[in-house]
Amino acid sequence: MPAEPAAGNGLARWASDPARTRGRRHSEASAAPRSEHQRDRDRIVHSQAFRRLVYKTQVFVNHEGDLFRTRLTHSLEVSQLGRSMARALALCEDLVEAIALAHDLGHTPFGHAGQDALAECMREHGGFEHNLQSLRVVDSLEQRYPAFDGLNLTFEAREGILKHCSRTNAQAIERREPGGVARRFITGGQPSLEAQLVNLADEIAYSAHDVDDGVRAGLLTLEQLHEVPLVRGFLEATLADHPDLAQRPGRRLLAEAMRRLLAAQVNDVTARSAALLAQASPADADAVRAAPPLVSLSASMGQQAGALRQFLFRALYRHPQVMHTTGRACEVVRELFALYLSRPQEMAPGFAEAGAHIGQRPRAVADYVAGMTDRFALREHRRLTGRDLLAAGV
Ligand code: MG
Repeated sequence: MPAEPAAGNGLARWASDPARTRGRRHSEASAAPRSEHQRDRDRIVHSQAFRRLVYKTQVFVNHEGDLFRTRLTHSLEVSQLGRSMARALALCEDLVEAIALAHDLGHTPFGHAGQDALAECMREHGGFEHNLQSLRVVDSLEQRYPAFDGLNLTFEAREGILKHCSRTNAQAIERREPGGVARRFITGGQPSLEAQLVNLADEIAYSAHDVDDGVRAGLLTLEQLHEVPLVRGFLEATLADHPDLAQRPGRRLLAEAMRRLLAAQVNDVTARSAALLAQASPADADAVRAAPPLVSLSASMGQQAGALRQFLFRALYRHPQVMHTTGRACEVVRELFALYLSRPQEMAPGFAEAGAHIGQRPRAVADYVAGMTDRFALREHRRLTGRDLLAAGV
């Protein structure tokens, strides 16, 4: 139901048309018939950082169970939701997929706990932000091409990956790349519709799958979920349609309620955004950047989704069991950082080399630690300290 009749390429006129990309930092010959954004997506899938996502924590540390989401399955779910909405809105699915698959590449091991610990370690050394680190991964840390560092993605993919950025960091990027991906954090503009869509798909995905994982882990109960109006509504509607589920043990009730929750949010975003786009009627993808946000949940769904996130924060992310694990994880990150800072030769060769220069050492250590999977970080920690803070069985 695109609000705007699609052009010959199937895209609305305000979509990011790969044929009109602002291009790559290093110019390259076209890879036709692949579009520029298909090529972005392909480069991300083949990157080393992408493969590492499989062993990085979303909420539960990787070894806690095989069925919990990892950064990889989270990224795939974001991509699936994003592409569904992009197709309905005649936006560029390939760009949405590229941004979704890359959006968490800069995440440290051990989820937000690891990110907070590393940010603290880097406070006096230029800081650490995971969105900025994702950009750093695709711009320079991946080393796969003879002619340049990084993956040399298009402007539009990089713009979407840099979801947040502090003003100080934005100014630093702007000095290196005038009018580039950080400009909007200084002038207050928006990114492409595809980037806006991935941001929403990310929130929709993690809210739903964290409920599912929380119940699986035994940290959330169905009774507790009844406190959240949005979830209660779908649990009750499911039971009204399938009364037998009340008596049947198992996960079908929750799975069906969460499926309905996802579908309702996807449909809500699609309908609301189609209306916003029809009203604003931006002339092209660039006009979107100067307009207010045009991809959005409706006010009432936005409010209910916010209440669900607050519930998760309170009941799951601050659950004593999660806090215990994340506290240990922070210790692992802090100790690894301190150890490599004093013994840079313990890092892998490329990082050890960069860390040999005292001025570059903290950043080299942060890059090395941020790139680690949960299990590699634990293994390194055990090798260097002889202690086992989070028994992983690997
Ligand atoms: Mg995410």
